[in-house]
Formats: sequence, C-alpha cells, structure tokens
Amino acid sequence: MKKIALHWKIIIGMVLGIIFGFIMNGISGGKVFVADWIAPFGKIFINLLKLIAVPLILASLIKGISDLKDISKIKTMGLRTIGVYMVTTIIAIVIGLTIVNIAKPGEGMPESTIEKIKLKYANDAGVADKLMKASAQKDAGPLEALVAIFPSNIFKSFVEVSMLQVIFFALFFGVCLLLIEEKKAAPLVHFFDGLNEVVMKMVDLIMLFAPYAVFALLANVIIAFDDIDILIKLLYYALCVVFGLVLMIGVYLLLIRIYTKKSPLWFLSRISPAQLLAFSTSSSAATLPVTMERVEEHLGVDKEVSGFVLPVGATVNMDGTSLYQGIAAVFIMQVIWPEGLTFSNQLVIILTALLASIGSAAVPSAGMVMLVIVLESVGFPAELLPIGLALIFAVDRPLDMCRTVVNVTGDATVSMLVAKSLHKLNTPKPKAWNDHYDTVK
Ligand code: ASP
Repeated sequence: MKKIALHWKIIIGMVLGIIFGFIMNGISGGKVFVADWIAPFGKIFINLLKLIAVPLILASLIKGISDLKDISKIKTMGLRTIGVYMVTTIIAIVIGLTIVNIAKPGEGMPESTIEKIKLKYANDAGVADKLMKASAQKDAGPLEALVAIFPSNIFKSFVEVSMLQVIFFALFFGVCLLLIEEKKAAPLVHFFDGLNEVVMKMVDLIMLFAPYAVFALLANVIIAFDDIDILIKLLYYALCVVFGLVLMIGVYLLLIRIYTKKSPLWFLSRISPAQLLAFSTSSSAATLPVTMERVEEHLGVDKEVSGFVLPVGATVNMDGTSLYQGIAAVFIMQVIWPEGLTFSNQLVIILTALLASIGSAAVPSAGMVMLVIVLESVGFPAELLPIGLALIFAVDRPLDMCRTVVNVTGDATVSMLVAKSLHKLNTPKPKAWNDHYDTVK
C-alpha cells in the first residue's frame, strides 16, 4: 500500500468497510462483532483527532497572529470571513429550496408509507433526543450565543473543546503578543511555532491510521441500517439533498477557479482526504485537524488565515447543513403540513436556516436538532414534530455524512478565498510524516 496516494488508501478502506458491514449485517452475531471488535478502532481515531484540536487551534492561531505584524489585518480577515460565510450559506439554502420546490419529493407520498414510518420512528429514542436538545437550544436568551464566546475559565474551554472560546483566547493572546516588546514575545512565539509543528506532525501520524479507521467507521454505519424498504421510499428525497450538495460543491469549485485561478481538480485532489474523513466521521469538528493540515500544507494557505477561518468555519459555517435544513423542512411540510407552504414561510426558512446552521454543533446529526427550530419558526404544529422528524430519520445518517463533506469543503474554499484576498496564499509545501525520521532513527 506504500505508493498509493492517501485518498485512494482511504477510499479502499471505505469500500471494504461498506462491504464488510453488509456481510456482517447478514450473518448472525455479525452486528455484535462489528460493534464490539471493529467500531472501537473508529472511535480511537476520532478521539485522537479530537485530542489535538485544541493545541492545534491555539498554536496555529497564536503563531499566525504573531507573524502578522499588523493588527488591522485581523479585522479585515474577520469581516471578510464572516461576510463570505454568510453569502455561501445563503446560496446553499436558496439552492436547496429551489430543488425541493421544483422536485417536490414530499408530494404524493402514500398514506401507508407515512403510517409505517410513523410507527417505526415517531416514538424512537433518537427522535425524542433531537426534540429535547432543540427545546434546550430554544430556551436560551437572544444574546446567549454571544456571551458563550467569552470564557471565564480557559481550562474549562479546553476541556470542553469550546471552539469559539478557544479561538477568542488565541486571538486575544496573539494580539497581546504583538503588543509587547519583540524581545519579550520571542520565546512564546518560538514555543507556539514549535507546538504547531509538533501537532501537525501528529496529524501526519494519525493519518497513517486513517484507511483502517474509515473501514471501522463505515462498517459501523452499515450495521445500523435495518429497514431497507423505508430507505428506498425516501430515496427521492435523499437524492434531492445529494443533488443540492453536489451543486454546492460546484459553486465552491467555480469560486476557486474564478477567484484564485486554481484548477478545481488540483483543489479536490489536495483537500480530498479531509472530505473523505468528513464523510466517514460525520463531524466537521473531528475532521478539523486534517482540514487544517491539508489547507495549510497542501493548498498553501498561511497559518494566520487557516488558524482563524477553519475553526470558526467548523463552528459557524455549515452550508451543507443549511441546504439540508431547507430541503428537509419543505419536504416534511409537503408530506404532513402542505398548508404551511407559503412564500413568506420559505423566506423565514432562509433566515432561520442561516441562523440554525451557525448554531448547529459540528457533530453528527446536529443539523436535525436545529431543523426543529427551523420548523417551529414557520409555525409548524408542535404535535406533528415527532412525525416530521420520523419522516427523515431513516436517511439522516447517510445525508449527514454527505452534508458534512460540503461543510468541510466550504470552510476550505473560504479559507482559500480569504487568503487570496489578503495575499496570504503561497506555494504549498506538503510535509511527510517521516521528513525528519532519518536523523532520529
Ligand atoms: N454533522 C454535521 C457537521 O459536523 C452537522 C450536521 O449537519 O448535522 O458538520
């Protein structure tokens, strides 16, 4: 397996994992075997990625900011990043709404299918869990999200991996490092520079394990599918979401082509390991270290841009999620609440899906929690909510995998655009895990 490119190794791992999952699904005791003996390896991999997220954001952002030498650039970078994130998210929602209104996947769904889905999932613990989480989110005050960015105890933020709080601290620290005498700042700058190198090396080493980990992750996803019949009934809806997501990737490639003059294939071949991991883990947060490594070393984005744009993006920019929320909300309304499908309600969906994607956590299935809030914003009857979620529950995991790919690709794209606009896009210098190995072995 030595000479094959990393993304091919990961793809082979994924395909074998899917095949293995299907085989195990058909064997008695197979599911338990996968859950007990295979899935833990996927979990270990995700743990390792999460383990390095905080030191990576800290080191990369503090080092990046201290290299800036010009504080006003931070403001420009911040405003541009948020601006472009908003624009891409609105494009995504509009694409989603256009598709669902033209294709109408929810119209004409037979009563028998709705009944079957209702029976199977409306009282499911997974659906109840999403509703509960959504109501907790809803009860928060209007400025709660802002307050949550400012930590009172940075160690707590580290422990809880509160991404925005860690970013705030790193920015604050980096700026103050710029504001003190260079001589005094130097040891800390060197420290964070070294820390950044070490953590990047950790990403390289962890990635050696990626092809095996995705095998475990995908086998575990496949054993969770039980009712293929329901999956087939929801195929048209699922295809609408996937089609929208593919279009969104097209939008990114177009932006890359037009604004940075780079070839879309060049971009895809370099970012693909992060996309494949996003697909396998369904979590932009878990994928973040790999996204950062790919964007910095393989796409040539400077640390001060990637260190800010990517962690912020993993938390607030979820184009795939908002596109999905637009389609899913209208689909559910087409099936069980067609009278709610007014033009003004669709405008409300654009706004709330934008806010919901900002508020969604970068973890599996978070998009479905925020979907509840999108539905509530248009006055969707509360008693129909469990049925609404039940309708899309069976296909949520595969769609989550796909929308996470778009979320991660969107973050990488925006980091390229912002870097280009700040003249911070360089010739990439990829590093291998063993660059330095000969001198220490
Ligand atoms: N799983 C997605 C992410 O982590 C969020 C979601 O749409 O559920 O990016």
